[in-house]
Amino acid sequence: MSERKVRVRFAPSPTGALHIGGVRTALYNYLFAKQQGGDLVFRIEDTDSQRFVPGAEEYIIESFRWLGIKFDEGVTFGGKYGPYRQSERKEIYKQYVDQLLNEGKAYIAFDTPQELEAKRAATENFQYDAHTRNEMRNSLTMSAEEVEALIGDGTQYVVRFMVMPGQEVHVNDMIRGDVMIKSDILDDKVLYKSADGLPTYHLANIVDDHLMEITHVIRGEEWLPSAPLHVLLYKAFGWADTMPRFAHLPLLLKPEGKGKLSKRDGDRLGFPVFPLEWHDPKTGEVSSGYRESGYFPEAVINFLALLGWNPGTEQELFTLQQLVDAFDISRCSKAGAKFDYQKGIWFNHEYILQKSNEEIARLFAPMVANNGIDEPMERIVQVVTMMKDRVNFVKELWPLCSFFFIAPLAYDEKTVKKRWKENSAEVMTELGTVLEGLNDFSIENQEREVFAWVESKGYKLGDVMNAFRLALVGEGKGPGMFDISAFLGKDETLARLRRAIEVLK
Ligand code: GLU
Repeated sequence: MSERKVRVRFAPSPTGALHIGGVRTALYNYLFAKQQGGDLVFRIEDTDSQRFVPGAEEYIIESFRWLGIKFDEGVTFGGKYGPYRQSERKEIYKQYVDQLLNEGKAYIAFDTPQELEAKRAATENFQYDAHTRNEMRNSLTMSAEEVEALIGDGTQYVVRFMVMPGQEVHVNDMIRGDVMIKSDILDDKVLYKSADGLPTYHLANIVDDHLMEITHVIRGEEWLPSAPLHVLLYKAFGWADTMPRFAHLPLLLKPEGKGKLSKRDGDRLGFPVFPLEWHDPKTGEVSSGYRESGYFPEAVINFLALLGWNPGTEQELFTLQQLVDAFDISRCSKAGAKFDYQKGIWFNHEYILQKSNEEIARLFAPMVANNGIDEPMERIVQVVTMMKDRVNFVKELWPLCSFFFIAPLAYDEKTVKKRWKENSAEVMTELGTVLEGLNDFSIENQEREVFAWVESKGYKLGDVMNAFRLALVGEGKGPGMFDISAFLGKDETLARLRRAIEVLK
């Protein structure tokens, strides 16, 4: 069994946009597979036609393409274990349902939804199980002829798994250790519905994991309650020897730490809970995505990797390959992980710093062009070099940097009041003369000459610089003053100075 090649799967149901928790599940599967030299399979679990949402599958595939998480096989990726869409595997499942029926490990039940409802209303905590199945309308309480006749008449039925009471069911979880529950608390789960000829999640999931030779099932904590049933199913089929190992990942919690993260938390606090923008085909509602909000895929990956897992060191910045190398599933926490979305923003900032100025400039250039500015790339690179450490997202650069490209038309009132003194017009006129006389307009030379002049005049350096900034920028923000004037060049600097003196004097 240890000889088996590691094979894991990400198996979403196409019921809408992929939640960010699902992205983390896929990421951990990817990291685990790549580290073990194994394969990651992409399976679509669409046996619940009621919940099918058109476009969801394409959305999920596009999300992972953007994030750079590659599948080795599966829906749209091919592979020899296909088809990988459960709705295309109907006949396969039927065989295995019949196997359980023939071996007496499952039975046919005719109870209508109304009958079940009545039973639930009449009996407190009613559960379809060893204690109650003999009071119900099923192949255990009816004669074979009766059952056959009903099926012959086209009566709808379900197939239920017969759970034997009095067993201890052990789920050996790579994160949680040995989880034991008593089989008595399990109900006889529906495995198949004649109405659509499709299996339920539980049966399809186990059959596929077996047939696709899945070695490890890594999934969200919400599936832990299903795991004992899954263990019993593997045993019922005689597949206990090749049963995958389980790992149930910790829940993602609200940023405040209490309760499960929901889309409403994102709406309330202003962060996306989906990788890409999602247009709900039913309601028309649009939900924001990490991509459209301006996050780098690497930042999202890095952020998610550390939500529920830690490397045991202080290191926070990881490339995908470094994550593959460092990942250790036994270092995942059992306790839920607080969704600290501010940390996600921090990661994006770190990736802006890490990326070359040229790369950020390439992303910023279209925004500059969209504002009607035609600047050569090297000028945009210069601006990015001065300003990128101040932003978390590339799109924040424009409002911060527009003054480099567009001379101020107006001057911020508050700043004028504070920074434009009685003698400012006069001092700025003098400054203009000093700057005009410079042949070398470099940052260093301007600084040297201007400081010398300020000192010789006994001016307060702060006052001079504040007025200078107001004249060139229009308000009190921006990087070092001579960085700005050197970038603008002598002519533009003098023009801006003169205009400010004109307007403000
Ligand atoms: N189809 C399930 C889901 O949507 C898969 C759960 C599992 O990985 O077993 O998450």
